[in-house]
Amino acid sequence: MHSTMQHEQLTLARLLCHGTTVHGRANAGTWQGERFETLTYRELGARCGQLAHALRTLGVRTDPGDEQSVVATMMWNTHRHLEMFWTAPAMGAVLHPLNPKMGHTQLVHAIDDAADEVIVVDAELLHILHRLLPLTAGTVRHIVVAGTSPHSAAGWQPPAGWSGEVHDYEELLHRSDPGYAWDEERDEHTAAVVCYTSGTTGAPKGVVYSHRSIYLHALQMAAADRYHLSAREKLLPLAPMFHVNGWGLPHGALLSGAGLLLPGRHVTAKAVARMIEQGRPTLSAAVPTVWISVLAELDTGRYDVSSLRRVIVGGAACPPSLLAAYRDRHSVQLLHAWGMTETSSLATLAVPPPPADEADAEETEWQRRTTQGQLPASIRYRLVDREGRPVPCDGVSTGELELRGPCITGSYHGGRGRDPQRPLDSFRSDGWMRTGDVVSITPDGYLRLTDRTKDVIKSGGEFISSVELENALMSHQAVHEAAVIAVPDSHWGERPLAVLALHHSTRTPLEDLRDHLKEQVDGWKVPERWAVVDTVPKTAVGKFDKQELRDRLARGALP
Ligand code: ADP
Repeated sequence: MHSTMQHEQLTLARLLCHGTTVHGRANAGTWQGERFETLTYRELGARCGQLAHALRTLGVRTDPGDEQSVVATMMWNTHRHLEMFWTAPAMGAVLHPLNPKMGHTQLVHAIDDAADEVIVVDAELLHILHRLLPLTAGTVRHIVVAGTSPHSAAGWQPPAGWSGEVHDYEELLHRSDPGYAWDEERDEHTAAVVCYTSGTTGAPKGVVYSHRSIYLHALQMAAADRYHLSAREKLLPLAPMFHVNGWGLPHGALLSGAGLLLPGRHVTAKAVARMIEQGRPTLSAAVPTVWISVLAELDTGRYDVSSLRRVIVGGAACPPSLLAAYRDRHSVQLLHAWGMTETSSLATLAVPPPPADEADAEETEWQRRTTQGQLPASIRYRLVDREGRPVPCDGVSTGELELRGPCITGSYHGGRGRDPQRPLDSFRSDGWMRTGDVVSITPDGYLRLTDRTKDVIKSGGEFISSVELENALMSHQAVHEAAVIAVPDSHWGERPLAVLALHHSTRTPLEDLRDHLKEQVDGWKVPERWAVVDTVPKTAVGKFDKQELRDRLARGALP
């Protein structure tokens, strides 16, 4: 029997048309330092039409395949970046969000590998492009400068040797008509967005999302036991939009009509606390280091954060002590999530099932909340040991996590005109993607991450989880930040080194921390080596930067 259903494509043009009409009254605000400046989704829809016309006048091509133009952004979370997120893929180009905090070599690699033709850049980030452009292979033909600052398009002198054109974002829009014929019939498998991994181990790798994968991911975000995005939510996405497709939130908002409060470049703890008080979001999202620093600000008791009910925390392990602190001191529920660039951003979410009729319901719920979350229906998963043999999902045994699914990448972008890459350390011959994460999974699909394979500490034939030690350390009130790395040891092979940033006011001796750790983990796992630093270094997306710590160790630059 053949299905009688229509062959409709799941396109981002459809999402854009839906979000800017059906949810036309929803608002997106951008923080201006004191308050949010807002536009409705209907107004944004009109600006997206103007933007699409403007990009066409720059020669942006939308035929699928190698001829599709790649349009990059180097922008903070602003309404203009949102317009780029919604417009470039919806008109049929490929969006490439660049991370301005990445190293120059990596940025140049990403620009060349994706063959960016247009870069839309926040005026205050022009100085980065100025240095990069002469190093690139020459695909970039247009720079569009967004926002006003002393470095606007008019005042910018492009670097010598670069012969493209410079435009002002608002001027381009001003000259264009808002009505645009969006192609809702585009093949849903067409490339829509390319994002690069941050390349902590080698050159960044390009993951290319399709219209279909982004649409399906957005649908999941609206599901009740997932992110529960709806028109009743006001979302403050603090995770930068250049990290893993903005964690899917710009598209989730279009689908559900959730309002958006965009922080611009302001993500200091003080600014975030003020944004919460002024914008009254119900939901926010960021990596754990952001929530660690915001907590200290909220603890001053100076802010009304009563609107904030839920916070998505992912991208790195969230210490249970942080979950407890927000719950107990601010009545905010932190929802732990796990994901990768390769999984279209967040894939799991720690929403526990309704309590069964049991005495220890609270304890069971807490155990679930402190996992990395439950895997969704769209993801097939398996665990394997180091020889590739199956490991049971019994909640105890650990193995490397491998995945398949419509929102999981099957390869990496190979560069223009080259075939996609499927390196053996990332993909099995049967197509399963290797995550490089060591986890256990309960029979009901809750994942607990032990470590990244490259971070796990191999000590005397046994494994020490750096995440376990970090969680235990950060549960001590004197510890602000903690990262644990392996150091070579002539007897044990490797031993852990704990790198700590302590709260300023504390005078806690390290001996107390050692005792605290001994109460929580097996004694043989407790590090012999400790280093106290002002602040633990962060990666370009705000995670603890263990590679930088290893480099400092090698240079003898750790105390
Ligand atoms: P990168 O960090 O290299 O920029 P990603 O953002 O794609 O790239 O990082 C994905 C990795 O981040 C995962 O493989 C995992 O190791 C780690 N990660 C993500 N979420 C969590 C989490 N909730 N707990 C622990 N680790 C996490």
